[in-house]
Amino acid sequence: MARPEDIRDQRRREAAAQRQRDRQRNMWIMLGAVAVVVIAFAWVLIGPSDSPSSAPATSPTVGTTGTTGTTDTTGTTGTTDTTGTTGLLGTDTTGTTGTTGTTGTTSTTGDNGAGLSRSIAGVDVHARDRHLVVAAKPARAQVRVPVLMYHRVASAATVTNSTSYGLTVTPATFRQQIAWLKGHGYTAVSQAEVFNAMEHGTRLPAKPVVLTFDDGYVDATDAVLPVLAPLKWPATFFIITGRIGERAFLTWNQLKRLDAAGMDIGSHTVAHTELPSLSSRQRTEALTASRSTLEKGLGHPVRWFCYPVGRHDATSANAVDAAGYLLAYTTDAGSTLRSDQRTVLPRVRVSGGQSLSSFAASMTAASA
Ligand SMILES: [Zn+2]
Repeated sequence: MARPEDIRDQRRREAAAQRQRDRQRNMWIMLGAVAVVVIAFAWVLIGPSDSPSSAPATSPTVGTTGTTGTTDTTGTTGTTDTTGTTGLLGTDTTGTTGTTGTTGTTSTTGDNGAGLSRSIAGVDVHARDRHLVVAAKPARAQVRVPVLMYHRVASAATVTNSTSYGLTVTPATFRQQIAWLKGHGYTAVSQAEVFNAMEHGTRLPAKPVVLTFDDGYVDATDAVLPVLAPLKWPATFFIITGRIGERAFLTWNQLKRLDAAGMDIGSHTVAHTELPSLSSRQRTEALTASRSTLEKGLGHPVRWFCYPVGRHDATSANAVDAAGYLLAYTTDAGSTLRSDQRTVLPRVRVSGGQSLSSFAASMTAASA
């Protein structure tokens, strides 16, 4: 015989059980919804990164991971970069650097790069830059040498605006230009060769050309070195020391690799500041700190400089000289290098999108 209070209790228990079941059902529905959202999100994240079509504005940014290049110092971590660099230049940079990484560490001392050749065309790189002497009276008033000014050698995917378009030569175009130079009897020469020709009258090849690359982008090891190394042609890379290892910029390991391959490394200040706008103290700091950073990292003298944005005046030219640089380049146009203007030398600009015939015409004019 059930008492009314028992029946009430039982109903309460049934109601409670029902609420419990409802709560459980709602929880499952919630979990299901969360799972759907998670799967959809993962799809959005993973999906597009595989399809090259959706690469444009995002991928250069993805290059961010290029920073990981810093880790290259160890040599092994270099591999991680593969993802980062893809956005910028299409893979290989860091994979390759990773391999050389181990050797790179050894070259910190600067004297042997562990098996990497320190000479180019039979000239010892260190000896070359250690024994440079300014003559009491320069042997030649001037030499005619087109000094080509490049910035980026990278795929069109790295171009973000009209400025970067003008500064970016594609790897294919770069190969064509170098092949044209080679085919037309040009020989690339080093900074020391230019300096010694001016100061001491040493001979230059029949059609000398100097290749310079401003700002220190990863393109140096990725797109430039592979083209020049087989020809044993040197080039000069002007480095912004405060940006070494940053996204899209060379790491120390890559710099050492270029140095060991016989390339010239020069300074482009610490932070790409225009020299005429600085106080004299700041100017000296920008010039000496960048130079000593490079010298410490590479283990030998660094005597070449390039003015950020090409900005120079008499005061900054004197400061460049006082800071110990032997040759310094502007963005002024020309190919006559005067020994009384060693620290304000002109160059020949190579622009992005320039046709091969226009390149050929400017070379012919510059060598005439
Ligand atoms: Zn620059």
